[in-house]
Amino acid sequence: MVNLLDFDAESLTAWFAQLGERPFRARQVLRWMHRFGVDDFAQMTDVAKSLRAKLAETAEIRGPVSVRDASAADGTRKWLLGVDGEVGNAIETVFIPEANRGTLCISSQVGCALECSFCSTGKQGFNRNLKTAEIIGQLWHANRMLGAVKQPGIDDSGERVISNVVMMGMGEPLANFDNVVAALKLMLDDNAYGLSRRRVTVSTAGLVPAMDRLRESVPVALAVSLHAPTDALRDQLVPINRKYPLRELMAACRRYLENAPRDFITFEYVLLAGVNDSDADARALLELTRKIPCKFNLIPFNPFPGSDYRRPTAERVRHFQEILMNAEVVATVRKTRGGDIDAACGQLAGQVRDKSRRLASVPLQPMHNVQSVALETYP
Ligand code: SAH
Repeated sequence: MVNLLDFDAESLTAWFAQLGERPFRARQVLRWMHRFGVDDFAQMTDVAKSLRAKLAETAEIRGPVSVRDASAADGTRKWLLGVDGEVGNAIETVFIPEANRGTLCISSQVGCALECSFCSTGKQGFNRNLKTAEIIGQLWHANRMLGAVKQPGIDDSGERVISNVVMMGMGEPLANFDNVVAALKLMLDDNAYGLSRRRVTVSTAGLVPAMDRLRESVPVALAVSLHAPTDALRDQLVPINRKYPLRELMAACRRYLENAPRDFITFEYVLLAGVNDSDADARALLELTRKIPCKFNLIPFNPFPGSDYRRPTAERVRHFQEILMNAEVVATVRKTRGGDIDAACGQLAGQVRDKSRRLASVPLQPMHNVQSVALETYP
């Protein structure tokens, strides 16, 4: 069975062509699946009955399986979604409602291979890339669960429940390039989710060649996890820096913005007490990013079991922010919202069966074993 959630518009059209069907049929089915959240061909009333029967024989629309659905008091919601029907393999998706927008934070891999020293997902090890269906399936599923699917024939110009998507969940999106790009195309497609490209953000630890390819394929907003102003420190915190050091990373950021004068890079910067949060660090950051139109998003470290880092004091965070702001660089602190479902940045653990077994000794972090934890809002 072919899962039609695996196709973006172009590949669905090609698949329909093989069936001898015209492109507008693919568009119709795309709308039913993504705009209207339908998973049953019988409901596709404007599609010819014969085609519906043919589709039902060869294809399916199979969304993710929700293993757990946790709601925080403030409306934030986190889904644990099963992968491969295997116990011990699951990813996480988080919905963060705010007054003027709703943000869905989605995952791109089961675990992550980059091993950033302060990230819980990194400690879990890596299992595999998510398929396109599993990436877009998170949005498809959240839309349905939040009652946000559109109704055929009804004016849908009102506010969107999910207005923004950030690829800031588990995994390194640019390490799963093709599947992530297909999912991004669906997010922007008017027959699917129709999101503005500025409201879809890919966050990367800095895979330089893939940053260039992303700009050419689907130029969405880009966030770069910087976390350190020098190579010596960044090599420790974000090991991929040894392959793509700061000079190359900064050059790639500039290239990303070359043809988009109104865009900017968001630099994410996790603040680790006594490690990267000094005044000198802030000033070095300003120097490093001087030539790049950018904003900073400061993320006070979110602890997780087994981590040695500490979160700086609120005063230290404010002071760091002030140094950036005094240089007229926009710097926001990712806000903490009362939460109780362990959904903060760097805490998305899911359940990963580490294939590399490097980190087999690190215990999994089950969702019922959750302390009261901060949730963030995204820029
Ligand atoms: N792999 C991508 C996206 C995933 S993480 C990336 O590196 O950008 C999303 C953001 O959360 C990244 O900026 C990441 O560095 C940050 N993060 C990871 N662990 C964290 C923690 N424990 N506390 C705060 N932020 C963290």
